Order: sequence, then C-alpha cells, then structure tokens
Amino acid sequence: MLQHATAGSFLGISGVAWFWILTIVGVGAVVLSLSRRFQLLRAGRPDNRFDRLGERFKHMLVYAFGQKKMFDDPVAGFYHLLIFYGFLVVSLRTVTMVIEGLFAGWELPLLHSPIGQAYLFSKDIFELLVLVGLCVAVWRRGIQKKERVIQSWGAWLVIGMIAILMATDLSSEGARIAAGDLDGTFLPISNLAAGAFAGLGPAILQLIYGVSWWIHLVTLFVFANELPYSKHFHVYTSVFNSFFANLDSPGKLPSMDLEEIDEDTTFGISTITDFTWKQMLDMYTCTECGRCREFCPTTLTHKPLQPVLFLKSVRDQLYNEQSAILGSPGDSGNASENGLVPAVVDPEVIWACTTCRWCERACPLDITYVDKLVEMRRNLVLEKAEFPEEAQAAFRGYEVNGNPWQLPAEERANWASDLDVPLASAAGGDFEYLFFVGSPGSYDDHGKTVSRALVKILKAAGIRIAILGPEELSTGDAPRRLGNEYLFQMLAQQNVETMNGYGVKRIVTNCPHAYNTLAHEYPEFGGDYEVVHGTQLVAELVRAGKVKLTGSLSLDLAYHDPCYLGRTNGEYDAPRFLLNAIPGVRVREAELHRETSMCCGAGGGRMWLEEKIGERINQTRFFQLEASGTTDVAVACPYCFSMLSDAQNELGHEDASAYDVIELVARSLEG
Ligand code: SF4
Ligand code: SF4
Repeated sequence: MLQHATAGSFLGISGVAWFWILTIVGVGAVVLSLSRRFQLLRAGRPDNRFDRLGERFKHMLVYAFGQKKMFDDPVAGFYHLLIFYGFLVVSLRTVTMVIEGLFAGWELPLLHSPIGQAYLFSKDIFELLVLVGLCVAVWRRGIQKKERVIQSWGAWLVIGMIAILMATDLSSEGARIAAGDLDGTFLPISNLAAGAFAGLGPAILQLIYGVSWWIHLVTLFVFANELPYSKHFHVYTSVFNSFFANLDSPGKLPSMDLEEIDEDTTFGISTITDFTWKQMLDMYTCTECGRCREFCPTTLTHKPLQPVLFLKSVRDQLYNEQSAILGSPGDSGNASENGLVPAVVDPEVIWACTTCRWCERACPLDITYVDKLVEMRRNLVLEKAEFPEEAQAAFRGYEVNGNPWQLPAEERANWASDLDVPLASAAGGDFEYLFFVGSPGSYDDHGKTVSRALVKILKAAGIRIAILGPEELSTGDAPRRLGNEYLFQMLAQQNVETMNGYGVKRIVTNCPHAYNTLAHEYPEFGGDYEVVHGTQLVAELVRAGKVKLTGSLSLDLAYHDPCYLGRTNGEYDAPRFLLNAIPGVRVREAELHRETSMCCGAGGGRMWLEEKIGERINQTRFFQLEASGTTDVAVACPYCFSMLSDAQNELGHEDASAYDVIELVARSLEG
C-alpha cells in the first residue's frame, strides 16, 4: 500500500503542512492577480453588456463551448477542441487532488458508483486526447510555423506545463495501479502507465507516485499564476468575452452623446482608461493566434497596422500602467493621463484601417477592432485636430454641400432629369420605396449610370419610387469612420428629419455603406426604416417574375463581395443570383470570397485618403480576383467599382472592365 504523497516530512514540517502552504500561496497569488485584473477593468469606461442575457448565453454556448470559429482552421480547431474539453474534464480531477492533499483520507463522493467510474474513464481518455492535441500544437508551432501566429517562449512554456499536468496524473495513477492500491478497470490510459511500471518494487512505485503527485500540483499552481500575465489569460477570460460579445449589428459604431459635453469630456479614446471595460477584456483575451492579420488588407500590403500587434501594444500599456491606475488597495481606479498616440500607437496605424472587419470575423474570441480604432480617430479629429490633410477637403465638402466632392447640392438629382423620377417633396407620400441615391450615385459618372439602371429596373417592375434630390445629404458613413462624429450626427439628423417629414418607410440604395448606416445607425437618431440594397430588391423582383432577364451579355466575371454588403451585413447571394440569372454571364470566385473576401481599400473613409505606405490594396485585391481566371470584375458598391477599375487602369489592363451588378441587370433587361 503506497502512502499518500503528502505523507512524511521535510525540514521538520509534515508533507500535509507543506501542501497547505503551497495551496494557500498558490491560490492566494491567483486570487490577488485576478482581483487586480478585475479592478483594472473597473477603471475602464462603462458599457452595458448585461442586457439580452438569453441571447448572450446562447452566443457563449455556440462560440465559446461550441468553438464555432476555431474550425475555420480545421487543424487548429481540432487540437484546441481536444485541449479545451480535456481541460474542463481534467479540472475536476485537479480539484480532487488538491482536496485530497489538504484533507488526508478525503475521497471524491460517488467515486465507486457508475457515475464515478464513468468520470474516471472519461478523465483518463481526455488526458490522452489533450496530449494528442499538444503534439499537434507542437507540430503547428515548431515545424509548420504558420506565419500568422506570433511566436513566443510563453507559448512553449504553457504547452510544456499542460503536458506535465497530463503526464504526471497518468503516472501517479499508474504507480498506484501497479502497487495494487487502485482498480485500473476504468482507467485505461493509467493502466498502460501501470504496465510500464510492472515489476518495480514498492519503494520505486512510492517514489514515482510521490514525485508525480508533487510535480503535478506545483505545476498546477505555477500554471494558474502564469496565466494572468500572458496571452494565456484567455483560459480564464474567453468564456466571459464571448458572453459579453457585441450582439448589435457589427456595422453599427458606438455613438457619442454630443449633447452631454462638459470640460471633462474626452472625445473618443486618448488614454488607456478611455477604453471600455469590455475593450480591455478583449485585450486580456487575445491569444496572439494572428488569425486577424492573415488577410487584413493593411497587413497584407505591408502597412503599419497589424490588428494583433495593435491590440498587443495597448494591452502592454494597460499592464504597464496597472499599478498607477489602481493606486492603493481599495481605490476604484484612476484615469490614465498618458496619451496613446503617438507614444504607444503610431498614427499611421490608426489611419490605415479600412474598417473591413476581416479581423473581427476571423477572431475566434469575439474581439473587435473597428470600434477601438474609430474611437481613437475620434480623439485625433475632435480633440486634437490631427488627421491626414486630405480628409480636410472631404470634411468640408460633407459639411457645406453634403457630399465629399464639394459639388452643389442643387446638382444632386441631375442624373435623373430625363427619367421622370418624382422628388419626395412632390410625391405626396405616393411611393413604395425612397431611392436613397448616395453621393457616388448622384455625382460620379459611373455611379449615375448605376442609379439610372436601378430606376429603369424598378420602373419595369412597376415599383413606385421617389428620391430626395437636392434635399439628400451623404449618410455620413465616411465622416463617422474617419472619426468626425459631429459631422456624422449633423448629416444623420438632417437626413432623418427630411425622410421622416416625407413619411419614408422603405428605402432602397445601391451603396452598401449607405445601406449599413441607414439600417443600423440611423435608428439611434429616430430613423427607423426598412432598408434594402438594390441587388436584394431586384433579386426579389426577378424571383417573383416581375423582372425578366432575356438579353445575353457574354461576360466572364469575378464577383467581388463588398465588405459592407457581405461580411458586415451578410448579403452574399443576391448579387450572385442576379449575375447567374443573366444569360451569357459566367461568374468566377476568387479564393477569398463571401465572408473571407478581402477589402478593395475604400472603406473606413480611406476612399478620401492617400495610400502612401506599402502596396496598393486595390491592386492586391485585383490580383486575387484575376487569379480566378478573368480580368473583368463585377461589384455591388460604387466605392469598390472605383477602386477596382482604378486597379485595372493602374496595372495597364486596358481590355479589362469593371461592372456594377445592377447595370448588367439593366442591360439584360433591355436586350
Ligand atoms: S478592419 Fe480590416 S483593415 Fe481594419 S484592422 Fe481589421 S482587417 Fe485590418
Ligand atoms: S485578436 Fe483574435 S484573431 Fe487576433 S490574435 Fe487575438 S485572438 Fe487571434
């Protein structure tokens, strides 16, 4: 019979006493670290994430426990699943071992019942599975060396510690089985270890058991204490981060109450404590897996913004300032006074983002970037007046004429002068849809062609529409994403007032940016409308047989998903359905398409900024589309059209063309 591992004494102190000391120090240090990290969260700005609890619970089940996004990379998903569930099952065993060590003779209730035996069996199997998962992780990290992953010694340390935890439990159980102290019937893997120990004498088995047990428990406490100081903090925080995830439309930016402003108000994010507690929790949770940067357009084109590195830099700053922020024990947290830009974050990082959300879709842990970067832009624009000088002209245009080109508002409806489209002011409410044309659709030559095409299609289907004409202003999507919240709110309020004045209920627009803003950001300003994108409405009409596409076009096209129609608003099918419905059109797919489509470079107000660093995003995207086998592209966004047709010209593809889906539908209709 082996003695319990805590039996005996060292330095005159009994093993049990040593274990009490280890447990008190180990648990105490973890509690202290976690409480400091928790207090740090309380120093962040408020953010109500305690609403819609049922929905939150469901989201957590799917994304944290179901590991849904992890399987975007099947190998990583596989080994992470093994480790995650192995950990959950084995943690009961670990708690049991701690209690056994503290209270000699204590035993897990029901251990000898079928429930206990089932538990022992699953625990043993999961320990093996965790070891298998770790082998795959070692292969990925050490041999395959996936470029997106950030290499660090900490990752190896944690892999090593988890392996030790699993192996030492199996060896301690194996020694007891070999000594005849434990029934190995329900411990198949420990039984294998026992087989390896067969023939060893009781003293050696006692040594194996004792050393394994102590190494296991010491490693456990070291492991638990290392987590809050490394990227492995996600072991504690990821389930919470998933529970508190953003459940609103991902295209809706957090609003600012511009009416409640006083001298203490900080616009956007200037210092580390201007982040909300949830944004700080994001920082705690990042595992540095690098999925977010894999196809981030700025990373791919060698600009300074790599989402994971940005998050890491602000997280490091948060940790660096922890003591200063928390002050003495009991303080609720002091606001930081250390500006983040440029000391911690280079302004080029802030301005590079196209708000395409590739990073957010890719992140398995619900970490967001666009909110953080836009709020940092807000601070630079509204408080410091530090922004790229090219933005100034666009801001002036939006402010004075309601469009970025500074063209006269009276010319806004010139494109429709011969189309007999009523103005809402003259329609007397007799229209089914308000056609929100948007600035490119009103002033840009190709945009005007697409606007005319939509009108023709809707008229052919007998849909009654009206436009706002000179009363329409830009939705404010770009100023908002460039950080000019004042300008955005001014435009939004005026548009809402105008549209509500005409009793607008349903809106159709060809611009995904306008679509996103009207649908998700205007409700906060009193504008509640049913908003559809042009391709959605036309696809519905084609399906209903109200629009017939008969003309053959003989085109071979790669379809590019606009970020704000696809990834942000989930519409991938309507444009493809329409292209496939046109006789003679062949549709090709780039490798990155639908939710993984890469940005054209225009989003986030980048349309109005110069691209001075690295390769051009529009050309990089064009190369991806071209790799599908054609140089002609189709889009469903005026900004994507502009960027990709520019790329075709810049690269000397004179014979290549870009088309908007709606203009092709109109051509087929005419044919
Ligand atoms: S939103 Fe797009 S550009 Fe911005 S960090 Fe994410 S992936 Fe990169
Ligand atoms: S933000 Fe998400 S995707 Fe990016 S490195 Fe961190 S955990 Fe991975």
